[in-house]
Amino acid sequence: MSYEHHILNPATEEVVATVTASTAADVDAAVVRATAAQRAWAAAAPADRARLLRRFAATVDEHIEELARLEVREAGHTLGNARWEAGNVRDLLDFAAGGVERLNGRQIPVAGGLDITLLEPLGVIGVIAPWNFPMPIAAWGTAPALAAGNAVLLKPAETTPLTALRLAELAREAGLPEHLFQVLPGAGDVAGHALVEHPGVAKIVFTGSTRVGKRIMAECADRVKRVTLELGGKSPNIVFADADIEAAALATPMSFLDNSGQDCCARTRILVQRTAYDRFMELLAPAVEAVVVGDPLDDKTQMGPLISRSQLERVRAYVPQGADAIRGSAPEGPGFWFPPTVLTGTAPDAPVATEEVFGPVAVVLPFDDEQDAVRLANATEYGLSGSVWTRDIGRALRVSRAVRAGNLSVNSHSSVRYSTPFGGYKQSGLGRELGPDALTAFTETKNIFISTEA
Ligand code: NAD
Repeated sequence: MSYEHHILNPATEEVVATVTASTAADVDAAVVRATAAQRAWAAAAPADRARLLRRFAATVDEHIEELARLEVREAGHTLGNARWEAGNVRDLLDFAAGGVERLNGRQIPVAGGLDITLLEPLGVIGVIAPWNFPMPIAAWGTAPALAAGNAVLLKPAETTPLTALRLAELAREAGLPEHLFQVLPGAGDVAGHALVEHPGVAKIVFTGSTRVGKRIMAECADRVKRVTLELGGKSPNIVFADADIEAAALATPMSFLDNSGQDCCARTRILVQRTAYDRFMELLAPAVEAVVVGDPLDDKTQMGPLISRSQLERVRAYVPQGADAIRGSAPEGPGFWFPPTVLTGTAPDAPVATEEVFGPVAVVLPFDDEQDAVRLANATEYGLSGSVWTRDIGRALRVSRAVRAGNLSVNSHSSVRYSTPFGGYKQSGLGRELGPDALTAFTETKNIFISTEA
């Protein structure tokens, strides 16, 4: 039986839309349609597929402002961020389109014949996306999957289906074949589960919590279904005393406050060498207090609300009443607001220092030397991102190599670019997305030997 989801504006708590949730039967029907569409798509000339994806990118480009404002309404992102996110979808489509005609197999020297490999599309791909970056993460899976000759069924998060639904309309407007890219809004344990279980879905690309990711991996194992997992994080921001301390301190607030901390790469463990600790904190406190929190549509706003009441309660539960902290400001009244918070004096093994909070909360921990920094950085089950601040290039490389995480940045907090690979070590995930090999993750390699002896 179908039912409806009310989509709330997290800054005002007003209902902005009502969306009908997909049932398991809807997923069945979508798989049948996608299977037929995929066969025709895979048989089309590569240049034509590339051209259509470029047109899709151009159509997204014409609608950046509309998509951005929709994202502000359903997810509470700041307008500047939301514009970047819509632009990222365009860039991903363009980048993937460039790969269609470069998806080369190999010719391998063998005796008695010729050996070649083909990279064949998998078929129908299920992309399950979270609510924190609804547009870019949907596109991380969708753009390369389509470019490699697959069809895509996208299940957005319950709270943020609107931009995904609009992107599917824009794909049709751009001329992409009907049913090649379908969006199935709905509940994770209904529509999402149906995609994972469906024998007609060849691969699941899941981005979300480690808890749900583990379950999906187990369910995929039953069918030996291909799976990519992008999961949680608890990333360190390691500041050595030989760094430009002012630059490091001033860059720290937005390294965990961007998107209100609802970022899998948020640098929520600030590790500072003891000899520079006091100076760093002196600079950090006013920088955190100065962060502008408020109306996401105001150009000056740096941080908006959390996504939902339940997320707000979850974040609150991590911050003990009366704990020592630097605190920023947040609006009062309707909306899911929580102030920027940096906890000082937290034990390194406290839940707030080891678990993913997914809110504007970080802990600061002192360390003694390089070895101690690496030990603390690695003292978590996650391994997604991390930053190293130092002027010593040798140290920057040693520490970057020693931290068990997929995406490191030196004297910067940048983690994600569509042209570079992204993914997690340990319980932060499985497989890589983006980067030069993004399309290959949506193919099977077939080896063909042709005898020259006959
Ligand atoms: P979530 O795990 O609750 O949900 C993610 C998606 O999975 C949603 O679409 C949800 O409906 C669906 N889902 C839930 N249960 C399911 C089931 N049984 N079967 C199939 N699908 C199901 O995560 P969330 O709260 O939406 O997102 C926040 C999490 O995402 C954080 O942990 C964050 O770190 C992670 N994240 C990771 C990355 C990354 O690239 N590593 C990027 C962004 C977010």
